[in-house]
Amino acid sequence: MSSDKSTVLLEHHLKALKLPTILREHTKVAASCTKQNIGHTGFLSQLTELELIERERRAAERRLKAARFPGHKTLGSFDFIAQPSINKTLVTELARSIYLDHRENILLVGSPGTGKTHLATALGIEACGRGKKVRFFRVTELITQMMEAREERVLARLKGQLAKLDLLILDELGYVPASKLGAELMFDVISAAYERTSVIVTTNLPFERWVEVLGCERLTGATLDRLTHRCHVLEANGQSYRLKDAKRRRKTQPKK
Ligand code: ADP
Ligand code: MG
Repeated sequence: MSSDKSTVLLEHHLKALKLPTILREHTKVAASCTKQNIGHTGFLSQLTELELIERERRAAERRLKAARFPGHKTLGSFDFIAQPSINKTLVTELARSIYLDHRENILLVGSPGTGKTHLATALGIEACGRGKKVRFFRVTELITQMMEAREERVLARLKGQLAKLDLLILDELGYVPASKLGAELMFDVISAAYERTSVIVTTNLPFERWVEVLGCERLTGATLDRLTHRCHVLEANGQSYRLKDAKRRRKTQPKK
């Protein structure tokens, strides 16, 4: 068979087998292997390794996109000195994502602007990087989506999607009081996740005020009971970073 013909065939096979990286790289790698006197097995192993690396990179990209984080916030860009109430050792440990294997939860409590959403996102991104399926929701957004799904009779499908996650992030519990149905749906989500999916909740409300959002003593008690059963609590009680940042900028800006 002529080399042209075998190249055409090879490329056809690689497409059919869905090996785009090998398809793109094989000529280059073949040339470098010839130069370095690397045999067939070495050549094949280099090519398959490239395909694997690229596949993992694409999967990581897909996981990040599917998680729908509100922004790209990392632990590297979190200033622990500005927020000394946040336990850095614990955050660093949580970043290793082992709590996910134990189905443990994280509760981030603190007033507005103290970095709760930032930390929840950063921990979510760490989990994505370790191959975990993550989804970020603002609580109001999830409740709205669930109500719509319920009306369209596709609530079971949405719950099925949530059940496949390794980590569910519920941001901003407590900013808006949920309706009775909303609170029930929230409770449903948290119950379903219990001991199966880790949940990160961020909230501006101390536990004793959750009843104001969820409306009902019994439901609040049951929700808290499930959430806090195996739970790491991070409390940010410092000043708002936004406010501090704005003040600092004002100070460092030359007066006109
Ligand atoms: P919260 O969710 O607690 O209201 P955010 O996480 O939204 O607060 O933080 C508000 C803004 O300030 C975001 O842009 C966030 O990245 C930034 N921020 C907050 N705390 C810190 C911090 N300690 N270091 C760096 N950036 C911070
Ligand atoms: Mg927030």
